[in-house]
Amino acid sequence: MKQLAILGSTGSIGVSTLQIVAAFPDKFQVTALTAGRNIDLLVQQVRRFKPKLVAVIAEEDAERLKKILGSDGPEILCGVEGLIHCASSPQVSTVVAAIVGAAGLVPTMAAIRSGKDIALANKETLVTAGSLVIEAVREYGGRLLPVDSEHSAIFQSLEGHQSEDIRRLILTASGGPFREWPLSRLASVTPADALAHPNWDMGQKISIDSATMMNKGLEVIEARWLFDLPVERIAIHVHPESIIHSMVEYRDGAVLAQLGIPDMQTPIAYALSWPDRLPLQLEPLDLCRIGTLNFSEPDQAKFPCLGLAYAAGQAGGSAPAVMNAANEVAVEAFLDRHISFQQIPQLIEKVLEQHTVEDLTNIDQVLRADLYGRRTARDIIAGGLT
Ligand code: NAD
Ligand code: MG
Repeated sequence: MKQLAILGSTGSIGVSTLQIVAAFPDKFQVTALTAGRNIDLLVQQVRRFKPKLVAVIAEEDAERLKKILGSDGPEILCGVEGLIHCASSPQVSTVVAAIVGAAGLVPTMAAIRSGKDIALANKETLVTAGSLVIEAVREYGGRLLPVDSEHSAIFQSLEGHQSEDIRRLILTASGGPFREWPLSRLASVTPADALAHPNWDMGQKISIDSATMMNKGLEVIEARWLFDLPVERIAIHVHPESIIHSMVEYRDGAVLAQLGIPDMQTPIAYALSWPDRLPLQLEPLDLCRIGTLNFSEPDQAKFPCLGLAYAAGQAGGSAPAVMNAANEVAVEAFLDRHISFQQIPQLIEKVLEQHTVEDLTNIDQVLRADLYGRRTARDIIAGGLT
């Protein structure tokens, strides 16, 4: 029986994780749940899964929860300390890191430093602090199992193979909602257009990242750390059907891939039950019905975030953390209609131009780089982005 802490339980990954837990009550028990501000859903989850610990960001939400759940409810905590408590509790064996954004870094690091196994959805943890995270996983002895579908596919395609035999990794990308739009039309993109992902139903931030293709850029950096390869050996193929979830090309020319219908339950379940496979009740993949799978090169001119992410990945040090922070501010500003869709990469580029890259030797430095990226991006927006 695995004792789970689900960080970000009310999000898209959190909810899918709880569906798996509900289907396999003999394998998983929910020990801790944490959420941002969706208290109504959190209350339902607490009543259904009966965790011992719950954490939310705001104190007023914690007070509200205490009133609703009563004296026989779980222990209720708040703030970053509350998240850390849940992530590092001795009662927890596996932490599902499903908070969105750089806010996931500190609690995920706490879990790693407590030797937990981590089912990692929060790619921003590796983007911002990859070298420190990998070092800590080695030092504290837990396992880091990817939830991101591309990384799960690569992880599966690598099993039983030797890393020196890898020539390159190929991440597939759906291409997002604007794959077929001409560049000229991108000037008029609205938040609703950008949130309408063709293949996956996800949280808002990752949906916008998919529309700009920054999501794929972040995934290149995530793969760089998970699989210890330079970003130059990580390629992207646009594959609109999202059936091949990613591939590994070996030095003898063999290419191994993992396929499946686009449903996050498969990679989440594998991260939770590795090396076993759970009998999920999903629609089977019917390649004969699909008939054709398509592939193309990503359009760098239409999606400048890709180039920015490769450059930040190559620069290393604080560059990816600053880029990620600028991207988070840009996505929020776009959703609030303060900047246009095409200003997202422009803003990130301006922030990176002003930044002098530093080596990262501890998490405080990562947090400072994150703060620098956010402040600089906000200042540029306030000054009028042209
Ligand atoms: P989401 O927005 O649906 O959910 C995020 C969760 O984190 C919610 O529970 C929210 O309450 C909580 N949260 C938000 N801000 C927080 C903060 N500051 N402190 C604490 N908790 C906070 O996001 P999602 O789509 O589930 O994505 C979660 C992570 O998984 C992201 O890093 C994303 O890139 C990654 N991921 C998601 C998918 C997907 O299909 N949704 C696929 C691959 C990877
Ligand atoms: Mg992905």
